[in-house]
Amino acid sequence: MKKFSLLLLAQWLSTALLAQTPHTHLPDRSIDFPDVPGYLTLTADLHQHTVFSDGEVWPTIRVAEALRDSLDVIAVTEHLEYLPHRDDIPLPDHNRAYHIEKERAEKTGLLVIPGSEITRSMPPGHANAIFITDANKIKTDKVMDAFKEAHAQGAFVFWNHPNWTAQKRDGIASLTKMHRKLIDKGYMQGIEVVNDKTYSEEALQIALDNNLTIIGTSDIHGLIDWEYQVARGGHRPVTLIFAKEKSLEAVKEALFARRTAVWFNNTLIGREEMLLPLLKASISIERTNWLEDFRGTTEVAEVVLRNDSDAAFLLYNKSPLTFHAHDDVVMLEPHSLTTILVKPGSGVNAFTLAFTVLNAVTAPNTHPDISWQVQL
Ligand SMILES: [Zn+2]
Ligand SMILES: [Zn+2]
Repeated sequence: MKKFSLLLLAQWLSTALLAQTPHTHLPDRSIDFPDVPGYLTLTADLHQHTVFSDGEVWPTIRVAEALRDSLDVIAVTEHLEYLPHRDDIPLPDHNRAYHIEKERAEKTGLLVIPGSEITRSMPPGHANAIFITDANKIKTDKVMDAFKEAHAQGAFVFWNHPNWTAQKRDGIASLTKMHRKLIDKGYMQGIEVVNDKTYSEEALQIALDNNLTIIGTSDIHGLIDWEYQVARGGHRPVTLIFAKEKSLEAVKEALFARRTAVWFNNTLIGREEMLLPLLKASISIERTNWLEDFRGTTEVAEVVLRNDSDAAFLLYNKSPLTFHAHDDVVMLEPHSLTTILVKPGSGVNAFTLAFTVLNAVTAPNTHPDISWQVQL
């Protein structure tokens, strides 16, 4: 090979490599997903503790952490019945943590929802009642009365950690008669499919079978930074709420309407009707063109995919097309561009790119598909 063409080849290689290298994703702790058509995508952590029940921090820390993570919404959910710090912190008012957090969050844009964790043995185990008006009234002797009172206050109630091994030794979430009754009476509308570092496929199935809202929370007691190794790129689990606007009323409406998804580790979990719009808003085609090599235009298509979300998408090729630089799995790094070289065949200038999104889950063992018609 002549020196001249070697130089050209080197130039082409460096350009090609640059094009395929994703933008460097600077470690940014804000949790960031795009809005979907018709709705804002709000990030929420609806289950947190402070020293006002069995947590280890003062309530203002929860607000500071949420602001660092750019959350839109948090709920204050102290245990009503489990108060290990009671000898040190007298608790005449179970709404106190909420009032402290609400005051600290003022003028920050962070929405704070008043709530309580109804803390009972199984069944029904633990449940969060949020959008309540007075936590004190929910502290009752009979468990059904607590749910009845929460319902009377207009609460949105979700079943916490149904897979918690302290209450369910096998870790398999299952609906009891009492849960059935709570759902039928309209006293329970949601379920935690993700709690802290656990994910329950059985809980997801219970949500789908019983029309419950899919929820994921941190249930943080210590510090978010330590629990989720935030400095090393980790993040807390959050519920993504698809709301008509950023307000408490709109969040409540969206929760009752089941418009949520959960962001957990690198997995998105939700009903297909919410996950598909989120995937489409997150992944788009930035541009397409024919690949140029040192001899000119080839019949290999360069498709640049854009990822506007925090997820590192894992795509599995569903089409019969083969690629020039990937096998059948393509990773889209968060907030970056990824080039796929597609071989549609000689003389073909239109094709369908189709993938299964392996790190999105719409039901146990079910991953959604995403596709694009490409025309060059
Ligand atoms: Zn709990
Ligand atoms: Zn809890």
